[in-house]
Amino acid sequence: VSDSQARWTIVGQGLAGTSLAWALWKSGQHFARIDRGHGGSSRVAAGMLNPITGKNFEPSWRLNEFLTPAVEFYEEVESWIGRKIWHPYPVLRLAETGKEWEKIRSKLSAPHVAPWVAQEVAPPPGWTGAVLLRGGGRLDTLSFIDGSRDFFTKHGIAHSSHHESSGPGVTTIHCDGSTGLISNRYGSHRCAKGEILTLHAPDWDDTRIRVGAGGWLVPVGHGNFKAGSTYEWNLLDELPTAQGRSKVEAICRKLGGDSFTVLDHQAGIRPILRRSQPLIGPLNDHEWMFNALGSKGSLYAPRMAMLLARWLVDGIEPDPELSFPCYLKSLERESGH
Ligand SMILES: Cc1cc2nc3c(=O)[nH]c(=O)nc-3n(C[C@H](O)[C@H](O)[C@H](O)COP(=O)(O)OP(=O)(O)OC[C@H]3O[C@@H](n4cnc5c(N)ncnc54)[C@H](O)[C@@H]3O)c2cc1C
Repeated sequence: VSDSQARWTIVGQGLAGTSLAWALWKSGQHFARIDRGHGGSSRVAAGMLNPITGKNFEPSWRLNEFLTPAVEFYEEVESWIGRKIWHPYPVLRLAETGKEWEKIRSKLSAPHVAPWVAQEVAPPPGWTGAVLLRGGGRLDTLSFIDGSRDFFTKHGIAHSSHHESSGPGVTTIHCDGSTGLISNRYGSHRCAKGEILTLHAPDWDDTRIRVGAGGWLVPVGHGNFKAGSTYEWNLLDELPTAQGRSKVEAICRKLGGDSFTVLDHQAGIRPILRRSQPLIGPLNDHEWMFNALGSKGSLYAPRMAMLLARWLVDGIEPDPELSFPCYLKSLERESGH
């Protein structure tokens, strides 16, 4: 299918490219989509959105600005594609050691953390402390990507599996995830491979996301869960390994228990430039980028896409912290050039 009026070509239809397609669609733009149809980290991701993360128990970067637009966006897309994609869940954050629990507890009433704290709860056996968080959930990434693809195809938006050079007057926006980063198109990267299991465990509590022991367990319905994950910076391929599987199985035993069956084992590469802080912006006169969603594509993709569409279509620049050209300048300043 081709659209002779297309002004934009989006390369990549993971969370970044699909969110951008919606933002351009909503502003009445003509665009074409390119995607290989396989690989990429969005198809592997658990889609979990957890407001307060990490060992330091801190809100995700610029959380207040990104969370509500993300949830509103997914709910709006549901109404367009007629499929449920956003599943809100409380997040049960568990602490293994006394030291870890002390850190978490010391922050529960801090003004930047307290709005996300639903309540402190009794820890399950084997854990030192537990707190229930609000605002979390799971994006069904496959339903989002495939449902959007079907919608755009039905509405005549061009799609192809490979990118040839764009014609005159067409701007290409690279939303190519780790493929783009590993090609060093954007300078040095910090991409990290991750492995994830899909489990069947009908006896486990499927009313909450569980986070602890350096991993997570996300209910996906029908007694199934996604569990992860590992971080590997050196061997960047999309191949599951026995070592990765046993690491994630150990997380599963701690978070869920011993009785589960592994249904699937996958690996993907998180696109990272500087932690999970995405970037958008022009590369030259006819090419732009949207990348570096890191471990938190579900949280950041929708609003970044909206800001990028505004920049592309209306020329309104986002604040410098989100801009790829500004990021490059800051690197140059740091290196003294
Ligand atoms: C194991 C694991 C678990 C994760 N869990 C979560 C989670 O729970 N929550 C969360 O928010 N995030 C999670 N992430 C991170 C999440 O996957 C990323 O933040 C997000 O998916 C990145 O989206 P993207 O669109 O930038 O990249 P991708 O999803 O990689 O999309 C890039 C697309 O571009 C295509 N492409 C690239 N080059 C070309 C080309 N030349 N021609 C055609 N097509 C091309 C690829 O095939 C791919 O489809 C996880 C990641 C991993 C690895």
